[in-house]
Amino acid sequence: MAFEGLSERLQSTIQKIKGKGKVTEADVKQMMREVRLALIEADVNLKVVKDFVKKVSERAVGVEVMKSLTPGQQVIKIVKDELTELMGGEQSQIKFNTKPPTVIMMVGLQGAGKTTTSGKLANVLRKKYNRKPLLVAADIYRPAAIKQLETLGKQLSIPVFSLGADVSPVKIAEEAIEHAKKEHYDVVIIDTAGRLHIDEELMDELKNIRAIKEPDEVFLVVDAMTGQDAVNVAQSFNDAIGISGVILTKLDGDTRGGAALSIRAVTEKPIKFVGMGEKMDALEPFHPERMASRILG
Ligand code: GDP
Repeated sequence: MAFEGLSERLQSTIQKIKGKGKVTEADVKQMMREVRLALIEADVNLKVVKDFVKKVSERAVGVEVMKSLTPGQQVIKIVKDELTELMGGEQSQIKFNTKPPTVIMMVGLQGAGKTTTSGKLANVLRKKYNRKPLLVAADIYRPAAIKQLETLGKQLSIPVFSLGADVSPVKIAEEAIEHAKKEHYDVVIIDTAGRLHIDEELMDELKNIRAIKEPDEVFLVVDAMTGQDAVNVAQSFNDAIGISGVILTKLDGDTRGGAALSIRAVTEKPIKFVGMGEKMDALEPFHPERMASRILG
């Protein structure tokens, strides 16, 4: 299960301070040492760990007794608040264009789950947001990607716009947006090309697609299982093309949690959704507070 190690460690740390009627500076120091180690072990970015520990320590030392909570409970509440804040605080909503179609660009490295997530997102938009989505197959380099998206579309009964693999992704995106306007699709989800590595060619192509019509959202799909790599990928994509949010996939696996806890702080971009499995209904909105509660038990 995801976050298992982190969760166990933080919970055992918390247990020690929970019942305390008085929390000394030494108690806080000891606790924060353990929290620090737990976060590092969960593969959280080092600077993020440092800042987090500093913030919690500052708030926790000399915490005044609130009537309803013991000092121990209050320190735990501070940890939970700061963990929530670290992951973005509020749940981040999709930004829809007031003048349809809303254009969502899906970007990411190969294997992260971009094509699968495009299908899942279309499904969520139709079911939960009552939208009429159009999927666009613009990943022309991975031969199976177009077919894969078409299969998902069929399975979901959501149309897939494709011009095959011999037309440039820019042209595909352009025509897809025109098609959406004519046929009154209100959200266009463009599955762009992924590569094994970040390279200039990929970034240039993504920038060119961007240039057709400024997308309302650019969602980077990253694999939570890759931990710090996911954070580095997010930072590179954000620096190169600018992303508006992250979708973290494979959170159903036993990821240590580093990516979920670091991405927001490092990139300042919110996690919008999390992938919780391979099926088309396994995409959930990301709730920082619920995630913090889940980790802290
Ligand atoms: P792409 O190359 O980025 O388009 O990646 P794909 O969409 O082809 O996905 C790669 C693999 O990851 C596929 O086997 C997907 O079923 C799987 N996958 C995607 N999202 C998730 C997820 O949230 N959980 C799990 N367990 N598998 C996922």
